[in-house]
Amino acid sequence: MAVNFNQVEFIRSAASPKDFLRDGLPQLAFAGRSNVGKSSVINRLVNRKNFARVGASPGKTSQINYFRLDGAAYLVDLPGYGYAKVSKAERDRWGRLMEAYFASGLIAVGVQIVDARHKPTADDVTMANWFYDAGCPLVVAANKLDKLKKSEIAPNLELIRQTLDLREGDVLIPFSAEKGDGKAELMGWLAAAVENG
Ligand code: GDP
Repeated sequence: MAVNFNQVEFIRSAASPKDFLRDGLPQLAFAGRSNVGKSSVINRLVNRKNFARVGASPGKTSQINYFRLDGAAYLVDLPGYGYAKVSKAERDRWGRLMEAYFASGLIAVGVQIVDARHKPTADDVTMANWFYDAGCPLVVAANKLDKLKKSEIAPNLELIRQTLDLREGDVLIPFSAEKGDGKAELMGWLAAAVENG
């Protein structure tokens, strides 16, 4: 069954584990450093301009946003990390929420957005390890591909693969939320994850 990514609706935000959705639909969990373009990637995927921000009120960095895709899966927008101007209290809230979500066993596939231009940060590596520890398959989208010269693409992708220590079977997709590169490939992997439950 193909998933129609245009058929998407905001369901709810969760600020604590009691608000996690547990209805058995596969959850596609999107993670990324603040400003890496996670919202833009999601918006590109669902063909909307401002969709990923719909459920997020300003300043609420520690909440998980759920969108239902075609009645078949949840696209789960995890709160971004690595934003310097966040209080310790907020960072702690973020950590508790993420730990609970990763321990919940609810993730069918992890989608990590990294910046195609740079070596993944220590936070990026930590996040990838959370997906590994949770036993999830991982799809990494190396976003902002449009900002690279052709000659930079292959070496940058290799650096990302090595730094995140991607396992056999993990997928690395060069992506541009701005131009649309990688969209079909990402949709294909996500649709396959939905079919596998
Ligand atoms: P988030 O904080 O991870 O949700 O990031 P946003 O989606 O808000 O994007 C952060 C900034 O990066 C914005 O100015 C976007 O326009 C820009 N951006 C996102 N994706 C791309 C991309 O693929 N190419 C380029 N050139 N800019 C992008």
